[in-house]
Amino acid sequence: MDEIKCLILKINLLNKTAFFIFLPTLMLSTVGFFMLPATGFSKNLSKPVIVINPGHGGHDHGAKGTEGTLEKNVTLVLANLIIENLQIKYQVITTRNGDYFLNISDRTSIANHNKASLLISIHASGSYHYKTNGITIAYLKKTSDLAVFPQTPAIKNNGNAYKHTSWDEIHNNQIQKSMEVGKCIHKKLSQSNLFPRNQLLHSPLSVLSGANMPAVMIEIGYLSNPIEEKKLNNIEYLSNIAKEISTGIDDFYSKAENQTIE
Ligand SMILES: [Zn+2]
Repeated sequence: MDEIKCLILKINLLNKTAFFIFLPTLMLSTVGFFMLPATGFSKNLSKPVIVINPGHGGHDHGAKGTEGTLEKNVTLVLANLIIENLQIKYQVITTRNGDYFLNISDRTSIANHNKASLLISIHASGSYHYKTNGITIAYLKKTSDLAVFPQTPAIKNNGNAYKHTSWDEIHNNQIQKSMEVGKCIHKKLSQSNLFPRNQLLHSPLSVLSGANMPAVMIEIGYLSNPIEEKKLNNIEYLSNIAKEISTGIDDFYSKAENQTIE
């Protein structure tokens, strides 16, 4: 029975109703059957709004491990662990609460329309080299990077709201804060003995390019690495990642409150 570690997730939905979800470690592929947090809208605006974006979904399963672990399932489980940690202090919205496809502009639109103060995208990676490992936290640093990804979903989807504002102007406002969020999460992961290899970098990532708020993407490991695939199938390991990410987010908001972030 030790092999099957169950997690009880108490998820408060937006209407404050509590649901209990039993999530066996080895049933990640069935996660879509469970009731998960509501997606895409916010009622309580008195708390900071954070949008958690589990990567992939539906026919887009993302990276696949040699044991068959799918990125789309791992990201969904981790997203819900993070939501569980954050929902006391924040209004947390998920872009995806089941196994279905969403395109990138839908995801950033959810964050923009809810006036989120933070967007966290969760992914895992795959590599041709099976030994590649570690956690990567990425933020969009230069607006010139966007030439690689010319789409501007925030502008397109919000119509008049950003009609006279260039994407460069929108994103420039968020660069410093995005970097700060990344630093806070990176620091927490680095302080843990469990995650010896992790890095913070800037990257031209399309999922971050339409977000009108600080945004980072966290790649939590490589499913192409058999050792990491095993870890990413372990709910305790995911809980530990979720804890460090959540406390890193807390640190970011504490800094913002104390105005130590410009
Ligand atoms: Zn991915």
